[in-house]
Amino acid sequence: MNNETKIAYFSMEIGLSNDIPTYSGGLGVLAGDTIKSCADLKIPLVAVTLISKKGYFRQDIDSSGRQTESPIHWDPSKFMIRISKRVMVFIEGRKVFIQAWSYKIKSITGGEVDVLYLDTDVEENTSEDREITAVLYGGDDSYRLKQEVVLGIGGVRMLRALGYHIKKYHMNEGHASLLTLELLLKNKRDVESVWHEQWVWDFDAVKDLCVFTTHTPIEAGHDRFSYDLVKKVLGDIVPLEQLKKLGGEKYLDMTLLALNLSEYVNGVAKKHGEVSKNLFPGYEIYAITNGVHSFTWTCQSFKQLYDKYIPGWANEPELFVRAETIPDSELWQTHLSAKKDLIEYVKEATSIELDPHVLTIGFARRFTSYKRADLLFLDMEQLLHICEKGKLQVIYAGKAHPKDGPGKDIIKKINDLVKINNDKIKIIFLKDYNIKMALKLISGVDVWLNTPQRPREASGTSGMKASHNGVINFSILDGWWIEGHIEGITGWSIGPKPTESSLTIVNDKTDAEDLYNKLENIIIPMYYHDQDQWIKVMKNSIGKIAYYFNSHRMMRRYVTEAYLS
Ligand SMILES: *Cc1c(COP(=O)(O)O)cnc(C)c1O
Repeated sequence: MNNETKIAYFSMEIGLSNDIPTYSGGLGVLAGDTIKSCADLKIPLVAVTLISKKGYFRQDIDSSGRQTESPIHWDPSKFMIRISKRVMVFIEGRKVFIQAWSYKIKSITGGEVDVLYLDTDVEENTSEDREITAVLYGGDDSYRLKQEVVLGIGGVRMLRALGYHIKKYHMNEGHASLLTLELLLKNKRDVESVWHEQWVWDFDAVKDLCVFTTHTPIEAGHDRFSYDLVKKVLGDIVPLEQLKKLGGEKYLDMTLLALNLSEYVNGVAKKHGEVSKNLFPGYEIYAITNGVHSFTWTCQSFKQLYDKYIPGWANEPELFVRAETIPDSELWQTHLSAKKDLIEYVKEATSIELDPHVLTIGFARRFTSYKRADLLFLDMEQLLHICEKGKLQVIYAGKAHPKDGPGKDIIKKINDLVKINNDKIKIIFLKDYNIKMALKLISGVDVWLNTPQRPREASGTSGMKASHNGVINFSILDGWWIEGHIEGITGWSIGPKPTESSLTIVNDKTDAEDLYNKLENIIIPMYYHDQDQWIKVMKNSIGKIAYYFNSHRMMRRYVTEAYLS
């Protein structure tokens, strides 16, 4: 069954459905969308990730408005099949056995992709080792490194044990970089130089096999481990001086390791490609801008609308270019239906009743400082003044990493604002953001807001999801929005145009001023007084954004530029 040569796609997190909580945010959902497009397009690919049996975490909000976390308990056997094959890796000198769960994504086109979830929770392992694949992004450096050993080294061994023939290994972010070492050891030519008595390593053979996608536009975002820890966990599978040449002198930098051993490297938006080139001078770094899986990220009412006016859209999202053919009134009714669906959802979750006729803004993503979820509230007085021109409803959702203090503070801040009782603005925070809620939000609001600090949003994808449902983007010009934005035509920008690739000085005040200005003078007036124009922008969101920012287009580019080259 595994005779066909395949691409192996490695990702620490994969978000395929709400029932399988093995993701934390955009990176995992992108991986899920990638896999779904491969199934639709019959791209021969097998995916490898960790089972994360306690998920990332379940988020609650306590009475003081702060995030609390608890483990998620889910049962893989309800969704996937356990494979009896086991492989072994050495961790801290112990044998650690790994099993895998297989989950098959089947497309109605007949395509199929197997997703392998690696799991160390087997009887032969010590109780500590059984926990290695329990919590996504949990624990300390040592725990993370062990997870990466299981993913990278264990993953390659599992594919081999299952008889896969792999043409390319695609690392989605640096968490899987250790796979390069496993490939290196396998490719090490058993030639002992007579003169130097050194091994000859076949770097080119490994490079030929590897594709690396980086997702982080700043230095501090990259995984790195001290060599003491590496030695403790990994032993000396690769001689230290050799490893330092590949992964850095001071510490093992997983991005550097992948960069040094991949023939093809890319960033996830054009701007991010440039930023990455500046971060890593001397490396050729290309750019393939992200996309989202159209069928997954289109809500029920819009699916019906597209089936009627743009048949074939799901497997050929280029057809969205014909969004113009949808009658205005039907588009609006379809949007209202999605909006009412969201309002119902909010009522069930919070007992708060929103008004379908009030301009509704959505903001949902990981809560981390650079995303500036609270930028809208920088000047509360001014915001309240603006709302006299037209009422506003704002819905927030998102988790902060358990160790991200500043991110958690922003969650508290938003939850404090929820309590302000004002008839001009209603603020909602929905707890425990997940894939299902994301679909409700990105389809049910009128405007999708994104306010990251430039240039830290490598791509961003939730705005692409919004555009699939005629929701209009209002965002800082960073990541994908630089490519999707045409002012007043496809949506609106916030703040200045991006000029240089280096970290620009953060100016919350300038950005907030522009946000308030456009809200007051363009967005609120158009929403309440010029519906024809509003619907035009909605159609452009579909016809000029969704048609391009989808994962079918993205995967065709990976095939021709990264996999087949
Ligand atoms: C799409 C998605 C994200 C990514 O959102 P960004 O705005 O691109 O950061 C995060 N979490 C979930 C659940 C998503 O569906």
